[in-house]
Amino acid sequence: MAESGKPRVGIVGAGTMGGGIALVAAAAGHSVVLHDADAGALAAARGRIEQALARRAARGRLTVEEAERIGSRIGTAAGLADLEGAGVVIEAVAERLEVKREVLRAVERVAERDALLATNTSSLSIAGIGAGLSDPGRFLGMHFFNPAPAMELVEVVPALTTRPETVRRAVTLARAWGKTPVVAKDTPGFIVNRIARPFYGEALRILDEGIADAATVDWAMKEFGGFRMGPFELMDLIGNDVNFTVTETMFHAFYGEPRYRPSITQKRMVEAGRLGRKSGIGFYDYREGAVRPRPSGDEELGRRIFRRILVMLVNEAADAVFWGVTTPEEADLAMTKGVNYPKGLLRWGDEIGPAAVLDELDRLRADYGEERYRASPLLRRAVREGTTLTEAGMRGKRGGSC
Ligand code: NAD
Repeated sequence: MAESGKPRVGIVGAGTMGGGIALVAAAAGHSVVLHDADAGALAAARGRIEQALARRAARGRLTVEEAERIGSRIGTAAGLADLEGAGVVIEAVAERLEVKREVLRAVERVAERDALLATNTSSLSIAGIGAGLSDPGRFLGMHFFNPAPAMELVEVVPALTTRPETVRRAVTLARAWGKTPVVAKDTPGFIVNRIARPFYGEALRILDEGIADAATVDWAMKEFGGFRMGPFELMDLIGNDVNFTVTETMFHAFYGEPRYRPSITQKRMVEAGRLGRKSGIGFYDYREGAVRPRPSGDEELGRRIFRRILVMLVNEAADAVFWGVTTPEEADLAMTKGVNYPKGLLRWGDEIGPAAVLDELDRLRADYGEERYRASPLLRRAVREGTTLTEAGMRGKRGGSC
């Protein structure tokens, strides 16, 4: 326990996420020890943390003394042994099951006996990562979003073996760190990465069918939906390789669920090295002198594109609630705080009206004859019972067909 009375926090993995989480914990008053197997990564993380603190001080968000105090709370360690006595450990190493298992087993040997152990995995199973621990009851997922200091959401993900007390501790800790925690079921994509799939997938489908080009789809989502970025702009920012891998992982993890079927167009982009901003070209050309294409549709086409993607998103959110991954309230919170959607999707669906959402999905399903467009049972129930999606979701599974 640190002098502040707050537990010492160990972070393993000093990459993009580990460095950010270390800063969050130190800003909340914890003494932090940051470890990475790569000395260069550790030094780079230290540099990024110093820069971030200096920026905050320059903008007047912290005094110079506060920035120095926060920085001084973060120590770096070349070995895991330095995590001895940590009361909270968050693992943020590379996204590989075996590596994470190994790291957490080693952490368990040095951390305090009742330490809270968490993984920041985006796509692996929490149960699978925790399986090798001698006390998996104190382990769960704490999924921060990038950049960790700026993004409010943390998905708290208990595994089958996590004790309820551990969930309460993680939720309390996330709140004390100024975050908004939501509890998610240990299913692929948790809440945000699952519900957001149609934002990319349906946009790619519209492109593949030749209904509209990338610039027109992006314009429609911003103009009529109020999204900060269009799907193609966002895929270019995330990186087509990363975005494609998430979709492909979800598709396989759900045993071929057609809603998550990856796009061959995006696969070709990855194969051709058109990864987006980081490679200089993706759906758009970011190289010097490149001219940005203009949207080519009229308002009617724009509104239709937006509606098609929106009803798929609403359906996905309703389905996540139907399967108990999240609650209506937390589904909406997750999408507004985790990926800055202008509105929660269940609320949005309720504004349009569940019957209108269902009509549109049924029309798409009839036109294409594809399971991809099947409506969630929760949406059908809301329409049948004349309630909102939010109410139908809060009432649980009563009324399902069996
Ligand atoms: P990163 O590649 O930036 O950093 C990973 C770090 O882990 C590297 O510095 C590497 O040297 C270190 N590492 C690898 N094996 C190690 C070991 N055995 N012991 C100690 N250190 C080791 O990756 P990242 O983007 O920070 O992602 C880390 C985790 O967070 C992953 O599980 C990822 O899925 C998850 N995540 C990433 C994002 C994101 O947007 N980048 C968002 C949420 C969650």
